Order: sequence, then C-alpha cells, then structure tokens
Amino acid sequence: MLNRVYRALTDFTGLIFPRLCAACGANLYEQEKVICTSCLYDFPLTRFKDLKNNMVAELFWGRVPVMYCTSWFYYLKDSKYQNIIHHLKYDGKQHIGLELGKIFGSELAKSSVSETNIIVPVPLHPKKQRNRGFNQSEIIARGMAESMDKKTVTRALARIRYSGSQVNRPRYERWENVEGIFRVTKPHLLAGRHILLVDDVVTTGSTLEACASEILKLQGTTVSIATLAVAKYGI
Ligand SMILES: [Zn+2]
Repeated sequence: MLNRVYRALTDFTGLIFPRLCAACGANLYEQEKVICTSCLYDFPLTRFKDLKNNMVAELFWGRVPVMYCTSWFYYLKDSKYQNIIHHLKYDGKQHIGLELGKIFGSELAKSSVSETNIIVPVPLHPKKQRNRGFNQSEIIARGMAESMDKKTVTRALARIRYSGSQVNRPRYERWENVEGIFRVTKPHLLAGRHILLVDDVVTTGSTLEACASEILKLQGTTVSIATLAVAKYGI
C-alpha cells in the first residue's frame, strides 16, 4: 500500500518536475537515476582506475608528484555527455553531482585510490561560490565520500585569487598563471594525510597542479587526483 502511495507521489512530482536524463534530456524511468539506460550503455568511461599511467597522470608528469590520477568519463566536445557537466555547473542541478559522485566513488572504493585518507574538493573563489550558490566539486566529493566511507574536508584549502571559467576557452588560452591562487588555511587538517583532490573536469591540469603543490608543502602529505571527467580534444 505504502509502496503504491509512494509510486503515485513520485509519478505526480514527475509530472510537475520531470526527471530528465542529464545527457540526452529524455524522461527517466522510475528506476533510472540521473542518466538513462541508453546513455549509460554508451557512456564514455575512461576505465583509468587501475592504470597508473593514463592521460590524466601524464598531465602532471614533471610538474608535481601525484600518487594516483583518475577520471570517470571523457568530456567530449559536442557530445551529449558534455551536458552532464553543464547541467551540474550552470543549471544548479546539484543532485547530478551527488549521484554521479556516489557511482564514481563506489568504483574507486575497489581500487588503489581507496588508500587515500580524506577527500578535498578544489575550492572555488568565495565570490564565484556566492554567485553559483554551491561548489560543484564539493557536491561530487560529498557523493564520493559517501561511497568510499571517507571524510570530506572543505575548509582547509582556500582559493585566494579569482579567475574566470576555463572549460569553454580554447586550449591555448587555458594556460594561465595559477601560481599562488590557493592557500592552505588549516594545515593541521591536511598534514601527514594522503589526500584525494576532487574536481569536476580536468583540462590542462593547471588548477589541480596549483592545489596539489600547495598541499604538498605540508610535511608527510601525499596527493592523488580524481575528477568526474577529463577533457579529450581533437576527436
Ligand atoms: Zn539519456
């Protein structure tokens, strides 16, 4: 009986707030979450989780020592999967980040990345976070933390310089001086830990590099990196 009431209610709210696939925009069936079965079937997974040498790791070679690097899917230009990140960042659909973070986290829980102690999302500049109302990396990190049974630390690292969006700029413009844009504000929360740095999309890696090198100034600290997506250009 309760089940039927619940189903009637979810169908009803579905009429008012239709649940749509974050990739293709089709209506979701009751058992589908965020992405429809058909889009999941073609999902551009990287399958990086147990590969020590992958295209994300290569971004940091010779720049900053990072233990493990992984991304869940390819951010392909002009593909429907690009919409997922767009909905999350610009339409404020936070549940997308939370659900996908949970799935990504449950995959990582079975990999070497689970050796990390705490999860630190890449912070936004306070002004940007106020404008957007939330930090998308923090939402993803929260979902991941739930599946990986780890704590998320959000107040230990701060972004002290404001910079615009990077995703839609041509690649050559995306190299910018990110030196000194982050500052560790609560070193005792990070020192001596193996930190999993989390971001939504990695493009050139310059932002994550700036974060990692700031954290690695603390003694006994190790950094690994996980992003929901990795930008793949030229295909
Ligand atoms: Zn779909």
